[in-house]
Amino acid sequence: MAQDVVRTADPIKRGFKLSDFPRTVQVSPNVYTYEDFHAGAEKFTTTNMFVVTSEGVLLCDAQGDAEATRKEVEAIAKITPQPIKWVVIASDHGDHTGGNSSLPGGITFFIHPNSKAILDRQAANAKRPPSWRLPADAVLVPDKKDLNLGGERVQILFLGRAHTGGDLSVYLPRQKILFLSETFLNCVFPAMRSAYPSEWLKALDKAEKIDANIYIPGHGFTEQAAVSKEELHEYHRALKAVIEEATRLYKAGVPVDEAVKQANWGEYASWTLASSQGPIAVRKVYEELSGKL
Ligand SMILES: [Zn+2]
Repeated sequence: MAQDVVRTADPIKRGFKLSDFPRTVQVSPNVYTYEDFHAGAEKFTTTNMFVVTSEGVLLCDAQGDAEATRKEVEAIAKITPQPIKWVVIASDHGDHTGGNSSLPGGITFFIHPNSKAILDRQAANAKRPPSWRLPADAVLVPDKKDLNLGGERVQILFLGRAHTGGDLSVYLPRQKILFLSETFLNCVFPAMRSAYPSEWLKALDKAEKIDANIYIPGHGFTEQAAVSKEELHEYHRALKAVIEEATRLYKAGVPVDEAVKQANWGEYASWTLASSQGPIAVRKVYEELSGKL
């Protein structure tokens, strides 16, 4: 095992106090993560990455409500006077976009077309006028975009449909840092409400083949390099095990309502969100196997 940290997404088990969050973690001389708690009783972090360049800050995902993202913008301003100029919407989910009204103006957004369609539909269906809308000039990244932002080479990558369907990753080749957003949930049970189970596995195959020293998750803690590699692999194993268990029940002809009770998650039953996300995972795998996805 690479390093002596408790492998968990639970801040208390990890040895933190709740008051240690939100926090900014330095990953390299100009790359940081920002971790704040996800909403809800079960505490775990929503993890974003930001890159400071000579021409501005690149932010990869943000927090889930206006107050949390306001604090994040303030935390970035404590690190650098550079303005936030670019934002990658790597996950379109509300816990990563719901605070976007607190981002400053003049930002160039990058987003996958699937996520743009989801956000545009949500805004159109909202009962009240939304506090934030994806700007019309957002740059679409259907596959891959190579950028040079203030001297830092940045590759925005679509590794395939995974947790949201429009999942983007951000790779910094010079430093071999890979931000995977919700394609990688560090010690958090595979959350499948809007997932594509078998395609998610393929996306993780690709992620593990990318030449990175450190892999940054969308939920769970920022790890040291060697631990991050082990935990990405462990997450990949967990997703595979969850899909296999649901598939076993499906093939045995167990009705889905019964399968959610029978599913045995083994070592992953203790992961954050296992009790709430386990049944959702069973239903999603059943959907995929029966061709309803
Ligand atoms: Zn999330």
